[in-house]
Amino acid sequence: MITDERLNEIRERCEAATRGSWSAMPRMDHLSREVKPGIWSDSWGFLGWFDHGEGAGADAEFVAHARQDVPALLDEVERLRGGAAGQALEHGQALEHMQETHYWCELCKTWVECSEWVGDADTGFCVDCYEHAPYQCEHCTYRTYEPRDFPEGCPECDGKFVPREENNDA
Ligand SMILES: [Zn+2]
Ligand SMILES: [Zn+2]
Repeated sequence: MITDERLNEIRERCEAATRGSWSAMPRMDHLSREVKPGIWSDSWGFLGWFDHGEGAGADAEFVAHARQDVPALLDEVERLRGGAAGQALEHGQALEHMQETHYWCELCKTWVECSEWVGDADTGFCVDCYEHAPYQCEHCTYRTYEPRDFPEGCPECDGKFVPREENNDA
């Protein structure tokens, strides 16, 4: 991964280079009477030769295009990184909203809207799980799947938990 520091260095080099659009075009060197690849900017004019022989034309093309290509790549990296950061933020906000409006039901392992909830956030269940809870307090409507979690009895009224069939019979 390219660090922000390195991106800033690349950006500084771009901004320090001669402005405008560059292009690679051959130019007649009147001293040697040769036509050689050169680089031109539309703001300054002729910037220099690439006259080291074979490959000079491709090198001139590369450098001339880098003037436009590198800033475009930097912009794209910034856009993608901004998008990724934005998505992470959005995801975090969605989770926060979920936690504000939903409770996590340990039994069915789902987020359930607070309005579909019975009991308190930590020890309660969603309505569906409450419906199927096999034990209920002998005195009130408090239900549980695990009476052993309540050695003191019902947290509401200290009543004993009994299996619901038995409770219904009574
Ligand atoms: Zn549930
Ligand atoms: Zn009770």
